[in-house]
Amino acid sequence: MNYQYWDPQIEKMPRKELEELQLKKLKEEIRFALRTPFYKKRLSGIGINSQDDIKTLDDLNRIPFTTKDDLRDGFPYGFLSIPKEDVVRLHSSSGTTGTPTVIYFSRDDLKRWADYMARCIYSTGCGKNDVFQNMITYGLFTGGLGFHQGGEEVGMLVIPAGAGNTARQFKMMQDYGTTVLHATPSFLLHLETKMKEAGVDRESLVIKRAFGGAEPYSEDTRKRIEALLKVDVYNSYGLSEMNGPGVAFECQCKDGLHIWEDGYIAEIVNPDTLEPVKNGEIGELVLTILCREATPILRYRTRDLTAFYTEQCKCGRTHRRLKRITGRSDDMLIINGVNVFPSQIEEVIMSMKEVGNNYLIVVEKDGALDRMTVKTEVSADIFMDDARPLNALKEKIKETLAASISISPKVELHESGSLPVSEGKAVRVKDTRPKDV
Ligand code: ADP
Ligand code: ZN
Repeated sequence: MNYQYWDPQIEKMPRKELEELQLKKLKEEIRFALRTPFYKKRLSGIGINSQDDIKTLDDLNRIPFTTKDDLRDGFPYGFLSIPKEDVVRLHSSSGTTGTPTVIYFSRDDLKRWADYMARCIYSTGCGKNDVFQNMITYGLFTGGLGFHQGGEEVGMLVIPAGAGNTARQFKMMQDYGTTVLHATPSFLLHLETKMKEAGVDRESLVIKRAFGGAEPYSEDTRKRIEALLKVDVYNSYGLSEMNGPGVAFECQCKDGLHIWEDGYIAEIVNPDTLEPVKNGEIGELVLTILCREATPILRYRTRDLTAFYTEQCKCGRTHRRLKRITGRSDDMLIINGVNVFPSQIEEVIMSMKEVGNNYLIVVEKDGALDRMTVKTEVSADIFMDDARPLNALKEKIKETLAASISISPKVELHESGSLPVSEGKAVRVKDTRPKDV
């Protein structure tokens, strides 16, 4: 394959040099951190009063983890390290798990973010000739403007389409000859359902690639989108606390997400003991940003579960790769004592071709017990009035789930395109059990 690199010197930098660069940037980041009320207190409490108190990368381990609650406690300006007049933008998290957190950017921070985004986009083979339709929410959410700036940096023609409205999206794809899409994977699937309904001919479109991120999805879901929309799908990972998208991205090999280690220090820890896991084992990703002056964040517990690949990628980049993020540690459902992640259910159902493009997991209390219902759409070529294949499919889903996750939920089948679709991140679980149980 003909790999292309946005910044070859950095992307293929030998590990030793990369670590030296990390140390230099970490010291710089500590200097910014010491200017924030939050870290000034926290770091001086452990004897770090100047950037020169950091001598090796291992010194990072002395610093306690930063949590989402810390960021909330520091709201609104506790993590700001530069004078307010030098701040040019703020973004906040989507608030999927509670009150959103806020991040500030200086002009240079925005330039650096655009550069990391450009690196990601370019690594998938895109270039100046591409027309990029950014079908994700703009506004406080980082996905819109993050990809927008990165696309412009690469020199693509960027269409700030925003999320939703599939009919308008198809029209833009046809009118402007869109070659690259960005959306949540759930929206990409929804798009395909709508494409069939609207009678849009795939041949009338010239899309080649799609970036899918902002929410977990399985490898089977990727394959499904690729087969249905006839595009190459690349996984995009980021979080507002670390700028947003641009933290880790798949290259042309589509085998794990390169985390840009000149911009982020990544650790993976056991979420219970907080000790580092063995290389290659799954744990919680902890990130330290090295590329932002306005809001330094050190050792942030992302709650996202992943693992490092232990081998270097075929593309020649030396930056390590993360496995597909399976979800957040707090996504785990406990159903009558059995632990299950929604992603495990998705893995099972999305591998079945009779299953359609959308699903929802409902958890309720039934007396003292928990009851789980998996609602899934059936593929468009299955008729809802033919009971026999439907019953067989229900049984198949039930049995496969029982075998793989030891839970035998109720299964409900729904017509293609009939389950609710959200404009932002997909809501996959509706848990109506009282919180204190
Ligand atoms: P919130 O934490 O409120 O959802 P963000 O918009 O910052 O706000 O979302 C970041 C989170 O989205 C990540 O921490 C992760 O849980 C999830 N996420 C983003 N990209 C991916 C991806 N490619 N795969 C799985 N999860 C992802
Ligand atoms: Zn690679």
